[in-house]
Amino acid sequence: MKNEENIPRSCLKVGHYIDKNQYNETSFWERLRIQLHIINCQRCKQYNKINEKLTNLLKKPKLSALEKDEKEELKNRLKF
Ligand SMILES: [Zn+2]
Repeated sequence: MKNEENIPRSCLKVGHYIDKNQYNETSFWERLRIQLHIINCQRCKQYNKINEKLTNLLKKPKLSALEKDEKEELKNRLKF
């Protein structure tokens, strides 16, 4: 999610959960929070949609070999 200044804190938080969700790293409560938030928030709903598409794309068998390395790389980057 872009770091625009007019994004509410709650959206930034949910955006972070959505990012995590892409790698199945969210807990039940975090996923619930996403679902509850996107009922009322078009921006995050859209963001979640895009992320779901990306996730499905990565799940395709053809890409799975690449996917693993890329996922690891992304994970490592996110730790900083
Ligand atoms: Zn939002």
